[in-house]
Amino acid sequence: MKFLVFIEQRDGKIRKASLEALSLASKLAGGSVVAVLPGKGVAGLAGGLGKYGAGVVYVADQDILALYSAKGYVGALDAAATKESPDAVLIAATAMGKDMAPRLAARRDVSVLADVMDLRVESGRLVGSRPVYSGKARAEADCGNAALQVVTTRPNVFPAEPRGAGQPRVETLDLPTIAPRAKVLKVEASESKELDVSEADIIVSGGRGIKGPENWPMIRELQQALGAALGASRAVVDAGWIDHQYQVGQTGKVVSPTLYVACGISGAIQHLAGMGTSKVIVALNKDSEAPIFKVATYGIVGDIFQIVPEVAKAVRELKKE
Ligand SMILES: Cc1cc2nc3c(=O)[nH]c(=O)nc-3n(C[C@H](O)[C@H](O)[C@H](O)COP(=O)(O)OP(=O)(O)OC[C@H]3O[C@@H](n4cnc5c(N)ncnc54)[C@H](O)[C@@H]3O)c2cc1C
Repeated sequence: MKFLVFIEQRDGKIRKASLEALSLASKLAGGSVVAVLPGKGVAGLAGGLGKYGAGVVYVADQDILALYSAKGYVGALDAAATKESPDAVLIAATAMGKDMAPRLAARRDVSVLADVMDLRVESGRLVGSRPVYSGKARAEADCGNAALQVVTTRPNVFPAEPRGAGQPRVETLDLPTIAPRAKVLKVEASESKELDVSEADIIVSGGRGIKGPENWPMIRELQQALGAALGASRAVVDAGWIDHQYQVGQTGKVVSPTLYVACGISGAIQHLAGMGTSKVIVALNKDSEAPIFKVATYGIVGDIFQIVPEVAKAVRELKKE
């Protein structure tokens, strides 16, 4: 099967989720694949993609591509697909990827196999599975007989494994000058320089059990000891105890870290929808009947005000050894 993979970069750095998609495509293809990298002044990043399985990288470089432009980025992806006629296009299901995939699919009059958590080739077609009903079940689907199979892959689920294809052939993708109907004028990063939950491998989250915003330092102590990102339930976001950017769940961010530590979070279905696919879930809650324990790999029933400082201390001691 022939794959084309969209590579997302921000501020001159390739997103890890794109390397995961690239490495997955190369694994399924059993060899090197084609990648497309839009941006401004990003050609220098193309060489590094060989390590993850790119044999050819199309670089689309225009001023208008410096910031995300739906028309520009999808135009670049579409142009590379026209040139290469792949069987499938893989895009990481980041905010940008989720915006692009349906646009590409609409251009090609095909559907999108969205947010897959596993993907395999069966009789020359891709079959993927993804969570449905807020993570209560998994649905398996394929792209039917579509001439182009457009698939988005959930970040942090597939490994970004070095596949060692060596130096890729880098080609410039000649595009007509793009005149987008809407243009991003500027991107304002949030003031915090913290690791974002959607990028993190370890997350420590706090819920209403922390009692009040004055107790974040206790949760932060564990977060920092583990080198984790901070997350939160919607209850504490709605209460104004922390900014919405930290919210995990159906109406927050969807995460799949290696380790998710839930402190004083009940485990409502809408919260589980955002973190239920984490590889290891640790629940700290004083109520042994709390639903979070149903999905937890490990749980401690008790008062977080006692447990969290002890766990943080133990982690620090272990790290010292
Ligand atoms: C449409 C919709 C979308 C939603 N989207 C989201 C979403 O994206 N994310 C999300 O999180 N929620 C979402 N919710 C809200 C969700 O239903 C829950 O209300 C919310 O997740 C509860 O947050 P919580 O677990 O922090 O609070 P609670 O449910 O109040 O749980 C607090 C927990 O802390 C425990 N606790 C209390 N004190 C201690 C202590 N001292 N030590 C140990 N444990 C203690 C309690 O036993 C309890 O289990 C959504 C709801 C709706 C209707």
